[in-house]
Amino acid sequence: MHDGMGEKYQVKGPWNDQNVVNMGQKECTCRKWGLTRIPCKYAIATLNEMADSAENVGELSTYVHKVYWIDKWKEMYSFKVEPIKGRVMWPNRDYPTTLVPPPHNKVIGRPKKKRRITTEEMIEIQQCMSQENSQIQNES
Ligand SMILES: [Zn+2]
Repeated sequence: MHDGMGEKYQVKGPWNDQNVVNMGQKECTCRKWGLTRIPCKYAIATLNEMADSAENVGELSTYVHKVYWIDKWKEMYSFKVEPIKGRVMWPNRDYPTTLVPPPHNKVIGRPKKKRRITTEEMIEIQQCMSQENSQIQNES
């Protein structure tokens, strides 16, 4: 199903699962496309549907985020990695190398198990008890 705006598609799955694919935003209500930036099965189904109804879907790779493209990978590794000398040859620094944990306050005695009753709860309990008492008085 198509909303006519050329953006949103309602896609039904085999177990009555139904998702909304937004082709413009490159998102789907199953959230996979938005999270991974790789089209989910509903988006793929939408692309097939679009192609079947003679819509121009263009290059399929454009639906996958650029970080997955080979060009980006090549760009990442285009920089030269300088070789470095070994750790023993690194200059010494007088910063502390061991991190000490923050001071810990030891609480003496067993921790309290029972939670304190709030004043609202206390009022409620008192009201319940007074209602019960009046009921008993009415019965007698
Ligand atoms: Zn999806």
